[in-house]
Formats: sequence, C-alpha cells, structure tokens
Amino acid sequence: MTQLDVEDLSHPYGSKVVLTTYPNSSGVNPVTLQWGASEPQRRGPVIVARTGKGVKTRNAIGAHGGSYSVYNALAIAGGDLPPDFRPDFTNTEPTFNFKPQPAWASADKIVAMDPFGHIVTSAFQQQLQQGHDIRPTIAITRATMRVAEIAEAVKEKRLPVDGEIVISELGDVRVTKVAVEPVWYLPGVAKRFNIKESHLRRALFEHMGGSYPELITRPDLKVFLPPIGGLTVYIFGPPDRVSDPSCKLALRVHDECNGSDVFQSDICTCRPYLAFGIQEAIREAQQGGSGLCIYFRKEGRALGEVVKYLVYNARKRGGDTADKYFQRTENVAGVRDMRFQALMPDILHWLGIVKIDKMLSMSNMKYDAIVDSGIPIIERIPIPDEMIPVDSRVEIDAKINAGYFTTGTVRTTEELAEVAGRGWEQWEDVAH
Ligand SMILES: [Zn+2]
Repeated sequence: MTQLDVEDLSHPYGSKVVLTTYPNSSGVNPVTLQWGASEPQRRGPVIVARTGKGVKTRNAIGAHGGSYSVYNALAIAGGDLPPDFRPDFTNTEPTFNFKPQPAWASADKIVAMDPFGHIVTSAFQQQLQQGHDIRPTIAITRATMRVAEIAEAVKEKRLPVDGEIVISELGDVRVTKVAVEPVWYLPGVAKRFNIKESHLRRALFEHMGGSYPELITRPDLKVFLPPIGGLTVYIFGPPDRVSDPSCKLALRVHDECNGSDVFQSDICTCRPYLAFGIQEAIREAQQGGSGLCIYFRKEGRALGEVVKYLVYNARKRGGDTADKYFQRTENVAGVRDMRFQALMPDILHWLGIVKIDKMLSMSNMKYDAIVDSGIPIIERIPIPDEMIPVDSRVEIDAKINAGYFTTGTVRTTEELAEVAGRGWEQWEDVAH
C-alpha cells in the first residue's frame, strides 16, 4: 500500500484533516490563557484537546498524559475509546488541599507544570459546563507503602513505629503522593536555558519528527504539553508542614533508574540512595518536621535505557575505570547528561518550600539549580559509604571528581584510573 485509504483515514474524524492552524485561520479563537495570573479564573484553563471545537478553541499544543498520550491515541485507533470521551471526575479531587503559594502567580518560578493542574474541576467548572475538554495535570492521593530497606530499618529499630507515619512493625508507611504531568510555558522554559523562544520551538519541531507543527505556525499559543514523563512527590508526615518554615525539611530529588530502583542492579547507587532518602525523610517527619522524595521520570539521565545499556557495554568492554566514565557516555550520547535540572525546582516552588534543611543528594547540578532558583540548602548529606554497591564505585568516584558533593575522598584524575568496576570475564567463559 503506497496510499492511505481515504475512507479509513476519515473514520471517525471526517474527510478534512487539519494538519495545523494559524492565528488568523477561520474560527480560531483560543480560550484566554494568561500564564502567571494569580487567580485561576484570570489565568484561564489549559485546553489542549483537538476534538470537537477544541481544534479552534484550544490554547495549548501537545496532548495530555505525557508519553502516555501515544497509548491514548492507540486506544482510540483500536476502537476501545471513543475520540470524544469525557472523563467523569466524581470523587477524584485531591486528598489534601495545598495552600496557594506566591509562586503559583509567577511566570518565572513555575514554567514546567500547571500550578492549577490539581483544581481544574473546581476552578474551571464554568468552562467545563460550556463543553471545553479540560483535564487535571496534577493528582493528589494517599497510600501505604512498604519498601524492603525501610522494613529492615524498622525491624532493626533504626526507625520507630510511631503509629502515624510508620504504622506497623512490618514497616508499613503512610504517604501522600502528588503526580504531575509536564506542562511547559514556552517563553519561561526558553528563558531558563537562555535561548530564544523561537529557537526552542524550531528545535522541538525538527527533532521530534516534525511533530506539533503549531509550535511553528501558532506563536500565539505559549503552552506545550510535551510527550515526556512527569514526576511524583512522596510526602511523609502532614503535607502542610512542607511549606512551614518552622519545620525542618529533608528532601531527596531522584531521577528514575529502573535497573537499580526496581531491579537492584549494582552498577550504580540509585536504589540505595533512594532508600536512604526515604529513610531520612521518614525520620525527619517523625521528629516533627517534613520529609519528601521527588521521583522524576528521567531514565538514564534522560538518555533512556537503550543508550544507557550501550554505554554499559562500552564501559565493560573498554576497561571500566572511573577516569573514562563520562567519556563513555559522551561517546554514545554526545553529552554526559540530559536531565536539565533547570526545570526541576518548579515543583519545590509549587509546594511552597522556602528552605531545605537536609538535601539527600550529592549532585552539584541539582544543588545549583535549587539554590539558583532562590531556595537555600542548609546541609547536604552524601550516601553513606557502606550503602555504595561494589560495582558502582566507578560511577560515584567519577561524579565526585567532576563536582559531586562529598564529605569523603575526592580522587584525582590519575587515581580515578585505578578505580575499576567488575569485568565480564566469568560471564564470557559461561557464554562460550
Ligand atoms: Zn542508576
């Protein structure tokens, strides 16, 4: 088949395909969206759906759900979901009402999420009744979690059972969770990177296969919902303490590493540091303060698992020493990191955090991003040495040499050549 069947293409949308729109296209009249306005009604809802009148009234580019927008499209293509489906939001409202913060009304402090994304069903009731398809981009719920390392700490009496946060001898822990989808205010994102908005728009369009042509044709639309992963905040203790400057706050900002976080591969320190971060967050909450873990879906420094595994292979086959650690990633990816911590502090400002007493991270990039955004960090706490898996010494020593915070030894570049990871010799013997 070299041509698409016109009838199939039309179903269920009609024969006219709107490839893009222009500000002066007939009928185009986006619902007002004034990023940085303090009142939700004055700010206006983020409307991104193209269904129904949405193609003319939407005020944002992209689609809901981050990377899951693709599955949503597949479900519609497969006939499982009508294209005009509207959710029933009964009882979906947040389990905790976060107090509005000054940053919610700042077009500079919050540029990568919608500060009103959790209250759309109440704040934009009028627009919903008018038939606009408006969806929450933030959801707030509660859970009980049991993490093996925390259960062990409870068993060994390193963490007490207090009945409110740690609620059982088995190590069950109560947590408030906030899931956030990315919503980008393009002028603000461009400003964070010191680039022109038009430059950002062109690069996004060109390097995502020519997707979202409205990035080019609709300069009047300033908001973009990108097809990437979001973040989840795990809050231990009463959530109102997070923004209370009289309460101490412990924080772990963690970027996803599925191989370690879930499957506990020992080539990096991700899971141990995450577990340590949760432990210290719980400890702070138990002492009357507040503890948070923020989990960002930025797998493998936002390079993805395929690139990550290619780098692992290059490291193991080329002699896995700490002095060559970053070079191996740069060889495959062109850069050593794509996480762009510049957008990360938005969630801290959204939560109303004014200072961080204990930062459970050694990353200089995270530290600089947070401090530069105006939130002081009082103490930085490295992962304890005994928690560092044997094969991850290469990574941690290379990172410390490159600027990661430590209270221990900073090895010289010459010494890094002596820090070697596990080889594959015995594996190769088995395989051949
Ligand atoms: Zn890792």
